[in-house]
Amino acid sequence: MNGFEALQQVKDNMLKPIYEKRRHLGCEFCGTTFHGYYQNTGYQSDKVPNGKKSPHPTKQGYSIIHTYDDVFYPDCPNCGIAAGVRNADDAVAIYEHEQEKKRKNKAAAEKRKATRERKIKEYWDRVRHVRANPHDATIEELHSFNFVQALLGMPYYGGYDNREKPCWEQGQNGRYEVKFNYVDKGTSRSGKTHYTRQWFDITNTDTGESWEANR
Ligand SMILES: [Zn+2]
Repeated sequence: MNGFEALQQVKDNMLKPIYEKRRHLGCEFCGTTFHGYYQNTGYQSDKVPNGKKSPHPTKQGYSIIHTYDDVFYPDCPNCGIAAGVRNADDAVAIYEHEQEKKRKNKAAAEKRKATRERKIKEYWDRVRHVRANPHDATIEELHSFNFVQALLGMPYYGGYDNREKPCWEQGQNGRYEVKFNYVDKGTSRSGKTHYTRQWFDITNTDTGESWEANR
């Protein structure tokens, strides 16, 4: 036995108990826990820490966690890779923390969706109310192209005759006269964009006041 082999022998004997100890391990990616053994092969990222730490040479407040050179975590039986494997308690804690973050994000997204749906419903409830009660329209609403368009049931996706009848066609238009204007301003040089100008002329027949509700 030469010097190198002897050294290797010493090292193998030192590491033997590390490999032979059965351990409770877990995977932080999938939350699986299992019993297994440290391995003598693996990737840089799968190395097992040896319990030693030292301050980072350049980054203030950071520390370097040292690892055994030849001791690696085994693969997760579920994921098939070792990258997320560590001791069972840490793995489960990290996995659950990640799940909780996901759950919270989902809850926030659902809340935003509910708010959006409530606002859309409030808007269309208001449109229906003004259709039935044209006198209740506010000045702001009558200056809003989109709101007037909604009152008129435009655009007529379902066909002109199938649309919900607007108040101005039910003889309930009260004091307002409404005229829709559309000017075709042509197409961009590339042909991709079609320019139009659309607006409503609105007149209050009681006062004679008139204005445009512009897009
Ligand atoms: Zn896994």
